[in-house]
Order: sequence, then structure tokens, then C-alpha cells
Amino acid sequence: MLRKLASVQRVLSLEPIPNADAIELARINGWQCIVKKEEFEVGDLGVFFEIDSIPPDIPEFAFLWISRNAIPGEPIVRPAKFRLRTMKMRGALSQGLLMPLSLFALSEVGEGDDLTEALGVEKYEPPVSVFMGQNIARGPFPAWLPKTDEMRVQSVPEVLDELRGLPYLCTLKCDGTSATYTRSPFDGEFHVCSRNLSLLDGDTVYWRLGRELDLARIIEESGISVQGEVCGPGIQKNRLGLQRAQLLVFNAYSVAEARYLDDQQMRDFCARYGLTPVDVVERGDAFAHTQESLLSLAEGFYPNTRNEREGVVIRPQSETQSLILGGRLSFKAISNRYLLKEGE
Ligand code: ATP
Ligand code: MN
Repeated sequence: MLRKLASVQRVLSLEPIPNADAIELARINGWQCIVKKEEFEVGDLGVFFEIDSIPPDIPEFAFLWISRNAIPGEPIVRPAKFRLRTMKMRGALSQGLLMPLSLFALSEVGEGDDLTEALGVEKYEPPVSVFMGQNIARGPFPAWLPKTDEMRVQSVPEVLDELRGLPYLCTLKCDGTSATYTRSPFDGEFHVCSRNLSLLDGDTVYWRLGRELDLARIIEESGISVQGEVCGPGIQKNRLGLQRAQLLVFNAYSVAEARYLDDQQMRDFCARYGLTPVDVVERGDAFAHTQESLLSLAEGFYPNTRNEREGVVIRPQSETQSLILGGRLSFKAISNRYLLKEGE
């Protein structure tokens, strides 16, 4: 499921913010954000832009960046790295932006409609690292296994109902860069891939770890492809505080059977082949979390550090299909403490 960076959403409630006259807090499905007072009434539809979206460079949005780069007489342009972020105003958490429908020339829209393309909204992608840019593409990401991805709970709160009552686990979301190690079912070739590409063999952290961990042999022997997060010095901000690069495995995938192994099978596989799986933050027999309790579980430090962790990834202990996601049931809760600190 692709992320809806801009979509039509209904205002579920409006709450006053202490000591603020001009703004109030609007809640929509999954998210809350600050809006101008009297711009909306409960029940109204608006266009909601999620955090990380880059809104179009049109006058209606100029208030977002006008104070940052206004030079009298000069045209107001969107700063190069602008994106909607998580922030706090007068102590209230605000994520994303809700704008009145009437601002946009839209006909016939309904609640939930995805407007990402229609409004030309793009996603901010964080820079990965100085060393990563040198990867040379061997080709597109292999078609014989899924890319790594996780939806945010706030964007699809209905997944909580799908998981309710099932044995589940929450793993530590590791803030590095995604890596996939696999073999082609057609010609047996070993592929080392980043998030979106298969990479040429070379002196990159992806390939180095692949060799160090002997992944070509492991995958040939087991028939299992491996997906994990490469973390370490020079990658993102190395918030895990690692001394050297490490692959933290979160998926084991059987290409022949076109299925992910269950978490315990993945951990047994890692133990057998000397790989390191992601940490388990919580495991339970019957999922009963709310969005709120998951967001609080998401908060904390990476082990042995004072670095805010990115969050947790939540899954059933046995692989389950999700109707909401149109794929495996698995999603993330990102720490608001982390989001507020990010970029500082
Ligand atoms: P968004 O979808 O929110 O716009 P994004 O697509 O960049 O953001 P991330 O926030 O990076 O996604 O979250 C998904 C990624 O998290 C996965 O692709 C994977 O590389 C990484 N990840 C880190 N730790 C884990 C974990 N424990 N389980 C699953 N994935 C993990
Ligand atoms: Mn994603």
C-alpha cells in the first residue's frame, strides 16, 4: 500500500489549546494537527497533508515558509529542503497540515480520497549518508520478492482491529538503511540491494556485510532471502551507537514459496547462520494496544544510549494477510519524541 501524502479527511473533533487564541487542535482519522481557529467545523472535510510531504509551491502554502526566507521585494519561494514536520505549538503536538477543501479546485471528492498525485505532492527523503551515494545500480529491485516497507499506524488505524486478540510482537525499529540479500530464482545470481535498487558488486557497506556474513552461501543453502537494516558509523546518524556496521535482520523470505517466515522461524534461521535479528521490544499473546499505547511504547532510547529510538514495528507472531494493507499485516509506530528531535 502506498502512502497517501495528501488525502481528503474529515474533522472528527476540535479542541482548544490552552493559552492560544488563534489556533485549535483538529483530530482526523489517526492524526492530530493545529488549524487556524474558525477555519473548520467538526464534520467538515479538508485536505490533509501528512508529515514528510512537500506541499506544492503555490501562494496558498506560502505562509509555511514566508517567515523563513522572505526578502522584501523578492518572490516567495519554497526553501529547497522544506517538508511538513512534527512540531509542538503551545505544548500541543501537531503533525501535518489540514487545509480547507475550497482552496483547491477539486470536484467530486470523498473522504479518504488520495490526492497525492492530483496535487503534485512529493515526499521528502532523508539523506542516507556520504558513502551511500557511490553505489552504482546494477538494475531495478528484483521482482521476485517484495521491497521493505511499513505503514504508519496513524495512516491506517484500522490495522489495530485486524491484529486485535492475536499473538503479536513489537520489534525495535532500527534507524539505518534497508538492505536485501537474495538469489534470482531464474539464474541463481546473488543480488545485494538497497531500498529500491540492486547494487553492483563493490566496496559498499551493503556488499561488505554480505561477504562478511557469507550471505551468498547461506541463501544458496537455505533458499531463504534476507532483509534487514544496515546500521553503523556513517549511516544516518548512527543512533544505535554501533562501533561497526551491522545487519539487523527483520525479514526472512522464501522465494520458492513466496512467503515470509514467521518471526520465530526467522529468529531460528538467524541463530543457525550467525545472523543478528532485530531486538524484540514486546511480545504478547493477545494484541490489545491502542494507537496511543503503541505510540508510547514507541518512545525510548536505543539500548545503552541516550539516543531517541525511531519506534517499533508491530506484527502478528504468525504471518497474516491484511485486507487493509493488501499484503502482510505489519506496521510501524514512530516515536513522537524522535520526530520532534529529528533534524535538530
Ligand atoms: P514512510 O513510509 O513513513 O514514508 P519510509 O517508507 O521511508 O517512510 P521507514 O520509516 O524507513 O519508511 O520505515 C520502513 C523501513 O523500516 C523498512 O523499509 C525497513 O528498512 C526499516 N526497519 C527498521 N527496523 C525495522 C524492523 N524492526 N522491522 C521492519 N522494518 C524495519
Ligand atoms: Mn513507506
